[in-house]
Amino acid sequence: MKVHLKQIPPEGLHLEGEEECLVPELESEGIRCVGPMGYKIDVGVAEGSLWANGSLKQPVGLTCVGCLQKFVHDIKVPAFAIHTELQGPETVDLSPFMREDILLNLPAHPRCDREGGRVCKAAKADQVDATKQQRAAKREHDWGELDKLRIEKR
Ligand SMILES: [Zn+2]
Repeated sequence: MKVHLKQIPPEGLHLEGEEECLVPELESEGIRCVGPMGYKIDVGVAEGSLWANGSLKQPVGLTCVGCLQKFVHDIKVPAFAIHTELQGPETVDLSPFMREDILLNLPAHPRCDREGGRVCKAAKADQVDATKQQRAAKREHDWGELDKLRIEKR
C-alpha cells in the first residue's frame, strides 16, 4: 500500500479502505486470509519523516487447537503506529509495516471459543470427561467406605 507524499497536505491525511491480503505465505501454516485487510489510518509528513497511526483488521481462517475445526478470526492491530524517515521523493510503501504488525498479532494457540461466540467441542468433551472422573472418584470413595466397614466388622 503506497502513499504518495505529494498528496499529503501539511495537516495530514486520513485514509480508509481495504488492501489485498499481505500475508499469503501463511497458508502453508494453515492460516488463510478470508477477506481483504481493512485499514483506518492517519498519515502525515514532518521534518523529513513520515508518520502514520490508526488501526488494521485482517480476517483469517484458523484451525482450532482444541477441536481442530476451522473458524474465522479477525486479526486486529488496534494501535498501528509508524515513524519512518523518508527514503525516496515520491512514495512510501506502508505494506511491510502493516505486514509486520499483523504477524505480531497472530494468535499463538488459536481456539474457536476465544471470543465467546461459540463453544469449543473440545471444551465440551473436557467437561464430560471431568464429570465422569468425578463420578469414578466418588465410586472409589464409596468402596473405600465399604472396605472400612468390613475391616471394622472383623
Ligand atoms: Zn474448538
